[in-house]
Amino acid sequence: MTGSVVIVGLGPGNEAMVTPEVRAALAEATDVVGYIPYVARVADRPGLTLHPSDNRVELDRSRHALEMAAEGRRVVVVSSGDPGVFAMASAVFEALEAGPEAWRALEIRVLPGITAMLAAAAAAGAPLGHDFCAINLSDNLKPWALIEKRLRLAAQADFAMAFYNPRSASRPEGFARTLTVLRDACADARPVLFARNVTRPDQVLRIVPLTEATPEMADMRTMVIVGNSATRVIETPRGPILYTPRSA
Ligand code: SAH
Repeated sequence: MTGSVVIVGLGPGNEAMVTPEVRAALAEATDVVGYIPYVARVADRPGLTLHPSDNRVELDRSRHALEMAAEGRRVVVVSSGDPGVFAMASAVFEALEAGPEAWRALEIRVLPGITAMLAAAAAAGAPLGHDFCAINLSDNLKPWALIEKRLRLAAQADFAMAFYNPRSASRPEGFARTLTVLRDACADARPVLFARNVTRPDQVLRIVPLTEATPEMADMRTMVIVGNSATRVIETPRGPILYTPRSA
């Protein structure tokens, strides 16, 4: 048997958003590797071994996946959303690059998923309808000064911005600083979307002007999308629609 590593995205939470391609890879897997809550989304069955692991051990997890594949197993590495967006695909390639030469002969594939940014944007309307960027607000893997630089330059370039990992219990002050930087750089009341638990039964969407956004509106289950200078809200009896025109 030839081993393989397939790195898949499980989407934002709703099972209807797991692609058929990802379902097929899971159906053929002998082993599933990933962060505990994501592995919990994979149904157990005979012939499948689940390997849940804790957060922040991405490189160990990646080496484990590659080692098992080298022994001939069909390993699926799971991420939420898309595996290439602040997730496991880069970690597996980092382990591959630093690992034994033999690993490079393995079949390694990345199967995309619906990333939280796109699910949040769709739930609210079309806030990413013009040029935009995505920024991970966690400073676990990069210095805060770099985050702040990117925020300022993105605002200056008038990108809409999508923020992943906006605020965690271990670094509560980062998002407060983000809002301060944005108010300073944008100097207007453009709409900000806080989209929590998108596509799940407890989804909550909240749209507020940048001038009224507060740090408590975000946590680690929230995607934050800040519009560009033209982003606006259409009020309807069914609720607000947030959108960015296609022209600048
Ligand atoms: N690979 C994932 C992102 C991992 S980073 C993806 O492509 O979606 C984890 C961050 O994603 C969370 O802190 C949160 O900001 C965001 N996120 C993931 N799922 C979400 C959901 N269902 N609703 C809102 N935000 C979500």
